[in-house]
Amino acid sequence: MIMRLIMLGPAGSGKGTQAEMLAKKYNIPHISTGDLFRALDSNSDLRKEIKKYMDKGELVPDDLVIKILKERLGKPDCEKGFILDGVPRNVTQAELIKKMGVEIDNVINIEVSDEEVTKRLSSRRVCKNGHIFSTIYPKPKKEGVCDVCGEPLFQRDDDKPEAIKERLKIYHEQTSKLLEYYQNLIIPVNGEQPIEEVFNDIVDGLKWM
Ligand SMILES: [Zn+2]
Repeated sequence: MIMRLIMLGPAGSGKGTQAEMLAKKYNIPHISTGDLFRALDSNSDLRKEIKKYMDKGELVPDDLVIKILKERLGKPDCEKGFILDGVPRNVTQAELIKKMGVEIDNVINIEVSDEEVTKRLSSRRVCKNGHIFSTIYPKPKKEGVCDVCGEPLFQRDDDKPEAIKERLKIYHEQTSKLLEYYQNLIIPVNGEQPIEEVFNDIVDGLKWM
């Protein structure tokens, strides 16, 4: 049995959490874009090239992302499958994945309305160490202070209303094309349910190859 998955869903959809749960259940790696970049040897030329883009706040070019993905998918832990999260980001990347001969079995689309995404993201508060809380749920024990490390909590610029609007716009532009590209593989899942129920819907919807 092999399970090669792609997770789609806007920021705040719980996509990463679901990917983690699936990775545990099926014992296949959860591969996010951030992890891909972090896993690169810090002295490698590839890492240096990527760092140039990231330091400038630019997107890493598609061919470079896929080059790194190809290396990652060649590792032994991917033999039984994998869960891609954040890649492919667009149809160009999807086509490059296909070109390198990688089959995809299921594409999970976690659906959350723009209103709900806006509510979830704008209530998000983080500390400088990346611990995440919310003004709604989960709230920190003491308002404005991280439970884990005691650092002050703040709102990232990315989570402010104007930025959220822009992020959603880009997300919908790119995702609508990906949904079309993968139309026969899509499993739509209602992301506005408790985490366990979202998870059960995904598991029930998976088609095994
Ligand atoms: Zn913290």
